[in-house]
Amino acid sequence: MKKTGKCPKCGCADVIADAKAVDRGDESFEHDMKIATFGNPGALIFKQKKETSMSAWVCASCGFVELYADEPWRINT
Ligand SMILES: [Zn+2]
Repeated sequence: MKKTGKCPKCGCADVIADAKAVDRGDESFEHDMKIATFGNPGALIFKQKKETSMSAWVCASCGFVELYADEPWRINT
């Protein structure tokens, strides 16, 4: 969807690009939704957390959402 500009579900070309995936944490603070990997998940403290924010592509017709990591190389372990 990001590259084609077309919805893979309904074929509509009206795609809303680069919308921010917003998450609500404790106390209702909004922040960009993130995706993370851990280089050392079994560690107690130093888990080597790597994360990136995400952006969404949304079909204006059927509402299908595709998520993309903004900086995928960051979480590539
Ligand atoms: Zn669609």
